[in-house]
Amino acid sequence: MGYEFKCRDVGMNCGFEVRADRMEDLMPVLEAHAKHSHGMEKIPPDMMEKAKAAIKQF
Ligand SMILES: [Zn+2]
Repeated sequence: MGYEFKCRDVGMNCGFEVRADRMEDLMPVLEAHAKHSHGMEKIPPDMMEKAKAAIKQF
């Protein structure tokens, strides 16, 4: 059981995927990716909402 996020699921043309056992482990990876790959110094609140909605549990 864990959490999965795919950039595609928020409409990004990007093959990035991340899986983690805990939400707290997933978010820093996601934020670092958004910063380095998408130039988001900080994830805007609307994008953060989208991202959280796109995180799937498996
Ligand atoms: Zn991405």
